Amino acid sequence: MYTATFTIYDDLNFFLSRKQKNKPITHQWDWKASIKDMIESLGVPHPEIDLLLVNDVSVDFDYIMQDGDDVHVYPMPYYQTHPHDNKIQLIPEINDRSRFILDTHLGRLASYLRMMGFDTLYRNDYPDDELAEVSNAEERILLTRDVGLLKRSLVVHGYYVRNTNPRERLHEITERYNLAEQVEPFKFCLRCNGNLHEVDKADIIDQLPERTAEFYDAFHQCDSCEQIFWKGSHYDRMEKLLNEVLEK
Ligand SMILES: [Zn+2]
Repeated sequence: MYTATFTIYDDLNFFLSRKQKNKPITHQWDWKASIKDMIESLGVPHPEIDLLLVNDVSVDFDYIMQDGDDVHVYPMPYYQTHPHDNKIQLIPEINDRSRFILDTHLGRLASYLRMMGFDTLYRNDYPDDELAEVSNAEERILLTRDVGLLKRSLVVHGYYVRNTNPRERLHEITERYNLAEQVEPFKFCLRCNGNLHEVDKADIIDQLPERTAEFYDAFHQCDSCEQIFWKGSHYDRMEKLLNEVLEK
């Protein structure tokens, strides 16, 4: 039997059982195991890890655990990385932090992100395989409420959404990915994530409810599903929520 000690930092403790939170964990095993598998067996999904130190040396996910190892596990930082001499980068830098794919539990968050102008794939019937594959192939950040999905090796960029309330979730994601500065409403379709373009009122007036045609003059239409959007009462509510998030 081999023994190692794990110290898990900051909000990665979220994934540990109550007994294990916020203190060194002694772990025993008797088979050949990679550090990635062992940490994931404790509960922490690999996409949320920024730095792994074993006996004060930075190692990658394939490191094979040795008897007596002293392991320190650091979370993905929000805006700066954990400095360390000869640091091994576990997760490659992402080119664009504003493209997402969301699991089936996060429909409301998907609408909010699209409303803010972020390219957000969502379907209420996305199978896990496809979520992992598309996230990987299109370099999209996978947002999920399924820790098991984040542990799949195909998933490179991913995050477990902590909050349960949709508004709190929007706050959480906006802060984590520093989205506030990039907000651009009327860019993506709330319904299908297609691109929106401006349309002349005259071209679509026969498709509008009478009162809408009377009160509004600026319209956008989806390239894909042809849904029409304008700054109506729905938009006002959304804008209020956005301002709330941006003020924070
Ligand atoms: Zn659409």
